[in-house]
Amino acid sequence: MDSPGNLDIIIVGAGICALARARQKLPKATVAVFEKEESVGGTWTKNTYPGLSCDIPSQLYSYSFAPNPEWSTIYATQPEILAYIKRVASQFECSSHIHLKQVCTGAEWLDDEFLWRVHFVDKPSDRSYIRHSRFLITAAGFCDEPNGAEDIQGVQEFGGHVFHSARWDHPFDFRDKDVVVVGNGCSANQPGCLRRIWGDDVTTAAAQLQKPIFSPPGQNFISVEIVGNVKPIGITPLGLLVD
Ligand SMILES: Cc1cc2nc3c(=O)[nH]c(=O)nc-3n(C[C@H](O)[C@H](O)[C@H](O)COP(=O)(O)OP(=O)(O)OC[C@H]3O[C@@H](n4cnc5c(N)ncnc54)[C@H](O)[C@@H]3O)c2cc1C
Repeated sequence: MDSPGNLDIIIVGAGICALARARQKLPKATVAVFEKEESVGGTWTKNTYPGLSCDIPSQLYSYSFAPNPEWSTIYATQPEILAYIKRVASQFECSSHIHLKQVCTGAEWLDDEFLWRVHFVDKPSDRSYIRHSRFLITAAGFCDEPNGAEDIQGVQEFGGHVFHSARWDHPFDFRDKDVVVVGNGCSANQPGCLRRIWGDDVTTAAAQLQKPIFSPPGQNFISVEIVGNVKPIGITPLGLLVD
């Protein structure tokens, strides 16, 4: 793909952080956002497990320039948060600057030209191209790809079904299954998630944690039973082993 004229600002990623920057109208500045997925929203498009909600009050987990008096609950759920992000993108006319299905594969600073040379791949055509900009903002997130359940020692020998909360297997039938939840971040404590797999249909259920999580009183978390210790597996919020 040919490289059109230089941009002033390139932003990589179209999650909640990128949109905060993209909506700011800088006079005469050309801004483009490159997002590898098919939609804006980042974290809130990729994580869809039952009961997913924010773990700080929604009035705080929202943009200062776009307060939302319509939050239906203190800790809004994923569909509501995603709808809010999309609404803001549209309201502040960010969408026209956003290029979806474009993967940033690298960048280098050109000292002589005082420019960033940024490399992309257009996913639909698999073609590579380059754009140049004066400023490069990376808003690619810190937990874009789950630190997979396959990193759990011995999991390859496990004969049952294994999946990560960030890749929730929605059709999976938990009835009469033994379930182990590995990890104890916010995802593991959110009620919709655990009540579904902790429900009457599950034969036995257990959580493997490094340490119990602290949940402020009144927050929408539930406690889980600790049955063992495992070594930390990075930022993986939740892995499920089902047999
Ligand atoms: C399940 C879950 C619940 C969470 N709950 C909370 C909460 O309640 N409160 C809180 O403060 N935080 C929470 N977080 C943290 C959350 O990730 C951040 O709050 C916030 O959504 C991060 O936004 P971001 O824009 O920085 O990154 P992301 O949302 O990760 O967005 C990054 C975007 O960059 C894109 N991208 C990545 N690499 C490339 C590339 N090479 N080329 C092009 N595009 C790329 C990705 O596709 C993605 O769309 C949660 C995280 C998870 C996983």
